[in-house]
Amino acid sequence: MSALNSGSGRCEPDPGTSLALALAALGSAADHFWSFMEDRSVRFLPQQLAPMFFSTLGQMVTGRGDPAARRAALSVVGRMYRRLGLHPYHGTVVAAAMVDTVRRFAGASWEPDLAGYWEVGCRRAHRLAERAAEVLGDGPHVTVAEVVACEAACDGVAVLTVRPARRLRYLPGQAMPVCTPRLAGQWRWLSPANAARADGTVEFHVRAVPTGVVSPVLVEQVRPGEVLWLGPALNVGLSLEQAGEADLLLAAGGTGLAPLRALVEQVAVSPVRRRVTLVVGARTLLDLYDAVALDKLQQAHGDWLTVVLAFSDDRDVEPTAQGDLLSVALHHHRPGQAFYVCGSPPLVEAARRRLPLAGVASESLHLATTFRHALDSARWMSRQRVAHAAESKVADAAAGNSGSSRSASDAT
Ligand SMILES: Cc1cc2nc3c(=O)[nH]c(=O)nc-3n(C[C@H](O)[C@H](O)[C@H](O)COP(=O)(O)OP(=O)(O)OC[C@H]3O[C@@H](n4cnc5c(N)ncnc54)[C@H](O)[C@@H]3O)c2cc1C
Repeated sequence: MSALNSGSGRCEPDPGTSLALALAALGSAADHFWSFMEDRSVRFLPQQLAPMFFSTLGQMVTGRGDPAARRAALSVVGRMYRRLGLHPYHGTVVAAAMVDTVRRFAGASWEPDLAGYWEVGCRRAHRLAERAAEVLGDGPHVTVAEVVACEAACDGVAVLTVRPARRLRYLPGQAMPVCTPRLAGQWRWLSPANAARADGTVEFHVRAVPTGVVSPVLVEQVRPGEVLWLGPALNVGLSLEQAGEADLLLAAGGTGLAPLRALVEQVAVSPVRRRVTLVVGARTLLDLYDAVALDKLQQAHGDWLTVVLAFSDDRDVEPTAQGDLLSVALHHHRPGQAFYVCGSPPLVEAARRRLPLAGVASESLHLATTFRHALDSARWMSRQRVAHAAESKVADAAAGNSGSSRSASDAT
């Protein structure tokens, strides 16, 4: 199918098909896109980044993904825009390269009307990238990572361990856009589950959302030896710096455990002594994953860490472990604690409504960004502006980088 019925009887051209055909031959399409610009002496794009840039721009133009996914893609091209030295005047040749590439690979499905669609869409995406570049500031853009382990942690959840080609610059609690080349250009936010390790590996905990496009592929199909593309790590409302020196109450639902476990690891190496209560919610005992790591953390740091389990739907566990995550977390809440919540979008929304009514002060409440509301996205944008400068300094220090060694942790 190369056209969609608009409802008025007239067939609209279908840009999704033309993009899908180009992405089916990603290597050749990206080479063509890159050569088109090279032939015109436009040389901002390193050839090895052409597949990432081309596919991400293409997905942005066709508007795939929910608001969070679109922000993830925008963060990637925004940072590339800055780091590759793109300028507004590049917009014309980028759009022309895109039209020429998609036309060539769409074959018989190409409709003349598509040229205008791709041209306008590319120029719009280019302007959005320019604005994102201003908001995000300087920093790493994209890195390739090899998947070194995939473990089925429990039904529908995988722990993927990756080794980035270059040391990643991130802080515990941050999230980064991640993309499998199997679904090129479709970026999703994932949160590292560990603080920086000596060997540079990073763990991601991924839940396969049944109706999802990307997460089932990450959980069920991605294998060791494959690569993932990683975008810039950004603040999504869970950084430790926001808590000052307060004690922490961390409430994790499902794979929301990942960034909160990384925060616990950060506290373990921080000079600031504080008490941490980590409440981990799961539906049943069978849905609890990462139990071994949690047990190790509890054994190693029992003097300041308390791990509490909350099962919302399991009558077979002991009564003290029964209850929904927010109720159990509220039971452990003490004045002065910084209260962090991370989990599915419905959990974060429930926390936003419920915790202030239960007496949790708004300034001590730190909710993971879901990008589901305009306000959430606006807050995220302003947080990037404010936090960028301070965080780059801390991340540099955590990764042991001085200004002169920035390239060691930077993008491919
Ligand atoms: C800041 C941030 C950090 C994140 N960190 C992680 C992480 O560490 N591990 C992880 O597994 N996921 C994480 N996510 C969620 C992840 O980015 C994807 O949204 C999720 O994997 C679904 O992607 P998909 O392509 O499979 O689904 P899509 O095709 O994008 O969406 C399909 C449908 O599922 C809905 N949906 C999306 N996410 C969820 C969810 N969690 N529960 C229920 N419905 C959902 C969408 O709204 C949509 O209706 C994070 C999200 C954000 C915003």
